[in-house]
Amino acid sequence: MLKIVLDGASSLREASKEVELPLSAKDQETMKEMLDYLIKSQDPEFLKKHPNVRSGVGLAAPQIGINKRMLVVYFLDDPESNHYTTYVLANPRIVASSVKQSYLEGGEGCLSVPKPHEGYVYRHYKVTVSAVDGLTGNPILIKERGFGAIVLQHEIDHLDGILFYDRIDKNDPFKKLPGAVSI
Ligand SMILES: [Zn+2]
Repeated sequence: MLKIVLDGASSLREASKEVELPLSAKDQETMKEMLDYLIKSQDPEFLKKHPNVRSGVGLAAPQIGINKRMLVVYFLDDPESNHYTTYVLANPRIVASSVKQSYLEGGEGCLSVPKPHEGYVYRHYKVTVSAVDGLTGNPILIKERGFGAIVLQHEIDHLDGILFYDRIDKNDPFKKLPGAVSI
């Protein structure tokens, strides 16, 4: 079971290094373990047995104390078909983004930040991300909007040592940004 490092740990504040390509078996194994952790963190039966585990939709390697540019995303995007958006990425990079901004109405949370931080985190509504797929080792180009785009930007921030609350306006946490889309 992976151990999540918490706010205050130095690995959360360091810029992470690019992952060496082609992917090593060890880095691929780490990414698989990270995805496995997220999947389990959303399983009610697992949570019953592990009350200290919090549910998450994204996890970046610095959150397990590894300063390499790797992240995973896993969330239910369509309850009707039970479809999950799943990304296992090495060296993700935002190559295009919308001017339009968006934010989560309820604010963001983070597995590494137990303390709640209230306020809006504004992010690009749409992003295009280039990366290497951690499972296949192939290059991948992702286009996401809305919730998926927010999760990707939150996780990529981790690779640069940025936590979500850094982006909340301390003087006016619920400041309205004209044109921003509430998710
Ligand atoms: Zn986080």
